[in-house]
Amino acid sequence: MSSRPFANGHILTPPGTKEFDAFRRRVLASRQRVARDLPWTGSSPWAIYLSEVMLQQTSVARAREQWRILLHRYPTPGDLAASSLAELLRAWAGLGYPRRAVALHQAAQRMVAVHGGDVPSTVEELLDLPGVGPYTANAVASFAFGAPVGVLDTNVGRVFARAVVNAPLRTADAWALAHQLVSRRSSASWNQALLDIGAQYCRPQPTCTECVLVSVCRWQREGGEDPAVSSAGVSRPQALFAGSRRQARGRMMRAVEEAPRSLAALAEAAEVTLDSARDIVESLRRDGLVVQRRQTYYLPGDEPRKSAIRVLT
Ligand code: SF4
Repeated sequence: MSSRPFANGHILTPPGTKEFDAFRRRVLASRQRVARDLPWTGSSPWAIYLSEVMLQQTSVARAREQWRILLHRYPTPGDLAASSLAELLRAWAGLGYPRRAVALHQAAQRMVAVHGGDVPSTVEELLDLPGVGPYTANAVASFAFGAPVGVLDTNVGRVFARAVVNAPLRTADAWALAHQLVSRRSSASWNQALLDIGAQYCRPQPTCTECVLVSVCRWQREGGEDPAVSSAGVSRPQALFAGSRRQARGRMMRAVEEAPRSLAALAEAAEVTLDSARDIVESLRRDGLVVQRRQTYYLPGDEPRKSAIRVLT
């Protein structure tokens, strides 16, 4: 890392080797103490892949049970690739952001077509799968295959900004730090420890007095404004869900998961006008979440075959 100015004009003084070492030793020594009970820890690459896709936008508490259900139903990429998208979307219900399910289905098909039915092991191959961004690719490479790569999510971003540099971090700098600090011999437990610390102590409102890093934390030692607030990659408060387009999309998805629907029925289910419903259902269609046959909307895979429609008319 360089000592160039950061986003808000802060100058980063790169921590000396001694500071880096103290931080690394403290994280490694705290691994057991901070470890959350996560059912996917140490499981198969596919099980880990599933968990990481779910955790992209779903909390651990909500993902935990659904992960068991999905893994039981689709024990391998091949099982998912051979199933219908409609079935997966129904199984996905309640997790939110169902575009992830579409991408997951496509990724499983890619694994079968290109990787012999296995989850690929390198960051580059993982990034090539639908729905996989830098966090997921690095997390799967580290947690499933022990690749010596760091991970960066909003939790880890807060820890780095506060404990390591005491300055807001640009995304590229935070990633550079993640790869620089990672323990090459035990990347999975290193990365998991950072995620656990960020999720349990270094939260938006940190609980520093209980934190295992308090003795090596630069923000604690030097003080100043909270550097995590203006760091890149640290989540901002979400817009209200009630009355939002996302809520209307969710209601439409639940309706069409139950049965094929007309536009009017979808508008009623989502409690929106016909014009809004037309606009929203079009966005669902573009995202591959519904298909239209004549005046009716279906989950992909539920729609009648064209010949069946001809017979009916
Ligand atoms: S001491 Fe506080 S600011 Fe520092 S890493 Fe822990 S929770 Fe975060």
